[in-house]
Amino acid sequence: MNDRILGIHHVTAIATDPQTNLDFYAGLLGLRLVKKTVNFDDPRTYHLYYGDETGSPGTILTFFPWPGARRGSRGAGQTTATAFAIPEGTLPWWRRRLEAAGVILAEPTRRWGQEVQPLLDPDGLLLELVEDPLAAVRRPWSEGPVGEAQAIRGFHGVTLLEADATDTLDLVHGTMGFEILGEDGERTRLRIGREGDPGLHLDIVDRPGEALGRVAAGSVHHVAWRVAGDEEELAWRRRLTAAGLGVTPVQDRQYFHSIYFREPGGVLFEIATDTPGFDLDESVAELGSGLQLPPWYEPRRGEIEASLPELGAPVVPAAVEP
Ligand code: ZN
Repeated sequence: MNDRILGIHHVTAIATDPQTNLDFYAGLLGLRLVKKTVNFDDPRTYHLYYGDETGSPGTILTFFPWPGARRGSRGAGQTTATAFAIPEGTLPWWRRRLEAAGVILAEPTRRWGQEVQPLLDPDGLLLELVEDPLAAVRRPWSEGPVGEAQAIRGFHGVTLLEADATDTLDLVHGTMGFEILGEDGERTRLRIGREGDPGLHLDIVDRPGEALGRVAAGSVHHVAWRVAGDEEELAWRRRLTAAGLGVTPVQDRQYFHSIYFREPGGVLFEIATDTPGFDLDESVAELGSGLQLPPWYEPRRGEIEASLPELGAPVVPAAVEP
């Protein structure tokens, strides 16, 4: 298949307060705010995109911050963990930084020989930092508050939790082309894409009897897988439809084009194009600096800006080391 899936494009999650979200992801984790726009389906809500310098596919975590939204619960049919890749040997540095900022760290673990540190964001979203020997080959965003030696190098992967993973495994392995790397108890690890790129891992946890989770604040809304462009996306739309899945028409998300479908276990998947990218309406130097609206909302800019909560520059917690 020359229209193959290349790994994670982005992960989109739900938050509450936008400033708290910005302070955590840009101020503490050191990601770059690469785009400040609105939820295209609800323009009175921000859509914040974090990533590397240019918002490369495989580095982008996005949020819909709904102030006051109730908290979701982790369970089956959900993306229950989002893992970032960090260079080998940097976990002790990260633990000190996160602990100094009062972040809740869970028990560290090892998976497939790699050190994993789970942590919670301010809305309870489960993240993981994974020491990945290939992370250091990628160039991070290094003009933020985290230096180049430690900076996050995009995603390592995501974990899905399923009450019965059989059909999900059939889809991702049989139809979507993920390679099975191994099994460890209830966890199956799969991989897709080019070695060295970010976001190549998919873990599926099969836990019979697990209750369905509720997607709300502190949960992942969907995971987007990347393809090169529109032609590849249309090929995937035909292939997934032929496999019996209900796939949406192509949606124009301005910085990429998207189709959506639910995998058999209930997790919302998207397939998104690498093109056109985030420098469509701002130069790389200016990414994230102004509120960007798609052309169809531009005539309503005044009304939209007035309805959005205030959002200043990210605050770096004073207690943490540089
Ligand atoms: Zn998306």
